[in-house]
Amino acid sequence: MKKWFTRTALAAACLAALCGCQTTTSGGATGSDRSQMMLISSEEMNKQSTQAYNSLLAKARNAHALNTNRAYTQRVVNISRRLINQVGVFRKDALHWKWEVNVLSSKTVNAFCMPGGKIAVYTGLIDSLNLTDGELAAVIGHEICHALREHSREQASQQAASSIPTALVGAFIGSSELASGMNKVFFSLPFSRTMETEADTMGMELMARAGYDPHEAVNVWRKMEKLKGGSSSDILSTHPSDAKRIENLESHLPEVMPLYEAALSKGTKTRTRYRRR
Ligand SMILES: [Zn+2]
Repeated sequence: MKKWFTRTALAAACLAALCGCQTTTSGGATGSDRSQMMLISSEEMNKQSTQAYNSLLAKARNAHALNTNRAYTQRVVNISRRLINQVGVFRKDALHWKWEVNVLSSKTVNAFCMPGGKIAVYTGLIDSLNLTDGELAAVIGHEICHALREHSREQASQQAASSIPTALVGAFIGSSELASGMNKVFFSLPFSRTMETEADTMGMELMARAGYDPHEAVNVWRKMEKLKGGSSSDILSTHPSDAKRIENLESHLPEVMPLYEAALSKGTKTRTRYRRR
C-alpha cells in the first residue's frame, strides 16, 4: 500500500512538473529563461555525470592521456577559470559548483561540460582547428552554457516523457535504471536547435564578460564549417555548423561587444575554485 502510494505520489509530481515547468537560468544581456520540463532531479543528473566523467578520466589516465601536455592543460585551465568566474551572471549557485577542468590527449575533435561543471577538452580539437585562446574560450563557454541551462537534464526528461506513463515513474525508480540511457545523453545525443542557440548566445556573453573578443565565436564556427568535409569529428556530429548558427552569433555582437570592452577596461580576475587531476 505504501509503495503504491509512493509511486502514485511520484507520478503526480511528474505530471505537475509537466504542467508547471521551470527555468534554470535568468539574467544577463542575452540569457535565456525559457521554461524547461524537468522530470529528473539535478542531484540525480550530477551523480550520473560525475560517475561517467570519473570513468572517462580513469580510462584516459590508464592510457597516459590525462593532462599529459602541461602547456595545453595550463591554457585550458586558465581560459576555463576566466569563464567560470562569470557564470554568476546567469545563475549564482553555479559559482559554487564542483567545477573540474581536464585535458585529454587524443585526436578526437571534441570538448564538453557535463552536468554540474565537469569540463573535458581533447587536444584534437585545439590542434585540428588551430584554436586561438579566444576561439577556445568560445567553445568552452558554449559547453559551459549547456551545463548552466541543464540541457542534458532537460533532454533526459524529454526522453523519459516520450514513453509516458511507465517512464514517468521509471525515471524516479533509481540510479541503475537511469544510468543505462545516460551515457547516450552525455556523449552522443545531439542537443536540439533551441538548446544549441541558447548555448551559442549565452556562451558568447560569457566569453565577452571574461575579456575574450566575441568575434572569435564567429571565427570558430566558420573553422568548424570548413573542417566538416575532411574529418570525422565528435563535436561536429553533435554541433552542426551552418549559416544560421553564424547568423545568430553575429546578430548578438552589438549586445555583447560593450561587455567585452568593459571587461578589458577593468581587467579580469579569477576567484572560482576548480579541480584538476
Ligand atoms: Zn552545443
